[in-house]
This record gives sequence, structure tokens and C-alpha cells, in this order.
Amino acid sequence: MQVKILGSAAGGAFPQWNCACANCRALRAGTFRGKPRSQTQVAITPDGHSWFLLGASPDLRGQIEATPELHPRDGVRQSPIAGVLLANADLDHVLGLLLLRELQPLRIHSTASVRRILREDNSMFGMLHRIPEQAKWTDFESGEEFSLCDAQGGDSGLRCRSWSLGTHYPAYVTAARQAQLSPGEASLGFFIQSHSGARLAYMPAVPQVDETLLAELETCDVLLFDGTFWSNDELIRVQGSGQTAKQMGHVPVEDTLIKLAGVRRPRKIFLHINNTNPMLDEASPEHRQVRDAGWEVAEDGWQFNL
Ligand SMILES: [Zn+2]
Repeated sequence: MQVKILGSAAGGAFPQWNCACANCRALRAGTFRGKPRSQTQVAITPDGHSWFLLGASPDLRGQIEATPELHPRDGVRQSPIAGVLLANADLDHVLGLLLLRELQPLRIHSTASVRRILREDNSMFGMLHRIPEQAKWTDFESGEEFSLCDAQGGDSGLRCRSWSLGTHYPAYVTAARQAQLSPGEASLGFFIQSHSGARLAYMPAVPQVDETLLAELETCDVLLFDGTFWSNDELIRVQGSGQTAKQMGHVPVEDTLIKLAGVRRPRKIFLHINNTNPMLDEASPEHRQVRDAGWEVAEDGWQFNL
């Protein structure tokens, strides 16, 4: 399995259009020791031919153009993108689906809850269903193992299992709709196994870490893990108000470094990094602390094989 990190920032990207935090200011001024980043997007392939997207970011158009492997190959209308796997219904995770219309066949794997939010409550997603051969949705149950398939039902051989992480649906989902949905389907992580048996954990939003999750992470070869905020009160300190990282469903990185210190087998990579996070600055003590703890800070364009 080949894995490409097309985007590594949290929602809003880095820099963020309306943000003048120290990081965003320095990046715009050209004095920042670190890289700009687009919104989190990962693509995987079992064979270099068919690609599957983990989520569909609002930056997807530029991310596809920056990735020759994802360009059309045969004919006038074609794409190597065979399917999309959805972890939640957050806007930064699903808006890119609307960029994948153009009557292109596509398989979308999601929970029934996420499918209902997008298809039944948001009529714009009807643009994915203008012809019968366009988007095909497949529901999976939380905790169930399934194969990633293309629009025609072809099995990629990539085995996937979801892990329920959070119970909060996005703010745009009405209370009436939320009452009909399963809380365990709100926010998921994935374990994806390649032909060789290697395992990737994809967990961009982790509200808490318990012993069962730690044991599962120890069986993996690579972790792509929630690096949204450095500290719990990061946004409040930058903005003067707002929610804590934990209220927003993210374990702060400084806690993760302690909680996952005993997880030794996998390569550990932070992604989904908010523009306010001090570890983006490669000259910062926080960046040094992360590297000393054996973690890496994902950058757009990284790739590896599993
Ligand atoms: Zn900022």
C-alpha cells in the first residue's frame, strides 16, 4: 500500500484566511521557520492504479493537481480516484465530495448516519447522483471490517475497520436529525490493512485515549494521529475566547506525547495540525519536544509505502 499525505492542516489550513495569529502572520511575512499546509487529505492505493481518499477536503482540487498519480490517464474523462472513505460529516472532511461531481463514477464508504446527513439533509450532494452510474454509497457499521471497493464493486484488497472515537455531530446537523442518528457513528478513526499485512491508523480527531485504543495502536506500523492543538487552552489564549481542545474533540499534543509514550512499534506522525499550533514552527521548543519524543509533524506531499 502506498500512502500520500496531500494535506496536513486542520480546518482553515495554514495560513487561515481570517487568522493573524503569530504563526499565520510570520508565514505571510516570510519569516516563519516551517511550511504552509493545506487541509488534511490522505490518499492510499494498493497497486498504484486505483486510489482511495480518506475524507474529501475543501482543498482537494489543488491537492489533486499537485499529485500526478491522481491525474486522468485514459480518455477524456477519467480519474484514478476510485473511492472515498468518510470518518465524519465535518465540512473540512466532506466538502471536497462536491468537487468530485462531473458525472465521475465513485464509491463512497460511510456510516449510515453520515450518509443520511449529507444525502437527505443537504440537497447539494444530489449533484453526485445525476446519473445512475455516478456515486455509489456503501454503509459500514462502526467496528465492522470491510474492503474498500471502486464504483463498480471491484474489491481493492485493502481491509478497513472503523473505530468509534467521538459522539458529537457537526453544529450544522439539526437537533431533530441528531436524535435519529447513532452517537457512535459521529466521528471515527480507521485501521487499514494492506496486502502485506501492514497496518495504518488514520485518526485525525481523537477526543480521548483509553487502554483498548492504546493496545490497538501498538499493533500498527504507522499512525496518522490528531495533532490539532498543542495545549487544551490554545485557541482561548490566541483568540481571547472560544472552546478548549477537549471540548472540540481533540486531545492536546502535549497530553498525547505522554499517553502514547509507551506505543513503540509504529512510526508516529501528527497530522490535522491547526495553524495556531506552536509545533508548526521548526525553531520552537514545542517542535523540538515532539521530535525528541520520536514523533514527526506531517507536511503536504509526504509519502511512504506499507
Ligand atoms: Zn493562524
